[in-house]
Amino acid sequence: MKPLLINGAWVTTSHATGNINPSDVSDVIDEYAQAGRSEAQAAIAAAADACEMWSRSGLQQRHDILQCAGQEILARKDELGNLLAREEGKILSEAIAEVTRAGRIFLFYAGETLRLRGEVIASVRPGVGVEVTREPVGVVGIIAPWNFPIAIPAWKIAPALCYGNTVVFKPAELVPGCAWALADILHRSGVPAGVFNLVTGPGAVVGQTMLEDARIDAITFTGSQATGDRVAAASLPHQRKIQLEMGGKNPLVILDDADLEIAVQCAVDGAFFSTGQRCTASSRLIVTERVHDRFVGALAERVSALRVGHALDASSDIGPVVDAAQLAQDLDHIAVARAQGGVLRAGGEVVERETNGYFLQPALVTETHPDMRINREEVFGPVASVVRVRDYDEALAVANDTEFGLCAGICTTSLKYSSDFKKKAQVGMVMVNLPTAGVDYHVPFGGSKRSSYGSREQGSYAAEFFTRVKTAYTSP
Ligand code: NAD
Repeated sequence: MKPLLINGAWVTTSHATGNINPSDVSDVIDEYAQAGRSEAQAAIAAAADACEMWSRSGLQQRHDILQCAGQEILARKDELGNLLAREEGKILSEAIAEVTRAGRIFLFYAGETLRLRGEVIASVRPGVGVEVTREPVGVVGIIAPWNFPIAIPAWKIAPALCYGNTVVFKPAELVPGCAWALADILHRSGVPAGVFNLVTGPGAVVGQTMLEDARIDAITFTGSQATGDRVAAASLPHQRKIQLEMGGKNPLVILDDADLEIAVQCAVDGAFFSTGQRCTASSRLIVTERVHDRFVGALAERVSALRVGHALDASSDIGPVVDAAQLAQDLDHIAVARAQGGVLRAGGEVVERETNGYFLQPALVTETHPDMRINREEVFGPVASVVRVRDYDEALAVANDTEFGLCAGICTTSLKYSSDFKKKAQVGMVMVNLPTAGVDYHVPFGGSKRSSYGSREQGSYAAEFFTRVKTAYTSP
């Protein structure tokens, strides 16, 4: 059994669950301890006790720990990538790229520890000095989803530690493997007891305990809107900081003047790579009418040729869907889209491979309307819809006609339209002639509307969430 990490000690539990490979359900990767309320509370207590010590720790110590962890992650990228591909199902090259990203994030925040700074501002009063400094928030609860099992934990844990906070980390139930490997690396990198705690277990128990505990000063959450709403409601009575990253229904607009090859590549990558299980996936393809048929024809050909298979098979372009429940959700969305008048132009069927996994041929549904369910709700699978529009103005209106606001893309050779789209797309991230998914690790990440709440993640902007600002006035 892979144990919990509480107060610097590995802790086993009476109950453990198997980590199942979605490419081959007969492959049980390992058994992972399942924390209950008491273990979650012990982890929170340890993090609270370690707060004072860690907030006063030297920056060199924090730097060295983060750097050590980042270097080990990078050195073991192939092995950790293999584990990630096995437990989550993205293909090996994507999994290794994700691990690499996680390693670089740790190195980035190792550097950020040495760039902590405040401000000295002139006072309006003669002789008075004003200093603005940043202080740690305290105990940070981290609740993560399954679709980026190492990158999302990395971009929450590394800044939390960098800015002097202690951590209670609860990974998603489906992906305890990468979380455990990360905890092991941090532990051996020299994180003091209590500063970083890992509690694997069910959201309804471990996560809920975290939400209810007043000793948690901030929660950074990535996952579904429903759980995000719970985090928000439970946090208000404690007046704790929250950062919520939730779903997306990201539009990719293709205009008549687009380079067709680039547009098709953006759509294939953005909609289907990582099995479409990305919050930034291009799930709505909004295409102007003069290019519509050529674009759909070329895209359908590419989508049909995508090879779905075992995540570790070098010939696979796309891995399996993460589990049976997600597969059922994907199929339901496809069925409802067809019932509402959509045309299944490519894929959409469950395919058999040598191993027993959740293999779904990527689905392209055309002739859809903005008000159909497939264009309103997040599918979170390899399913994309096409909406035909007259012109740029209608494309922009349809792109913004959603409660989500994470990312939006446009494929065009027009400076006028790309500039206008960058200004008017109601999202946190805009892509021009690039897939909506695939972002840098050193710049802000996040959305608007119902996709995100709170300050941005990643880059130096993460300091907004992981610190509190103090203003000090001094008179000689
Ligand atoms: P989820 O909401 O089911 O679970 C997310 C986390 O919350 C898990 O760790 C889960 O155990 C925990 N949780 C569940 N119930 C809880 C409760 N009552 N109290 C506290 N914690 C609880 O989401 P998921 O299925 O793991 O992830 C998929 C979702 O994540 C999608 O909607 C996707 O768009 C979103 N996502 C968003 C981003 C982003 O940055 N915007 C990135 C990746 C994924």
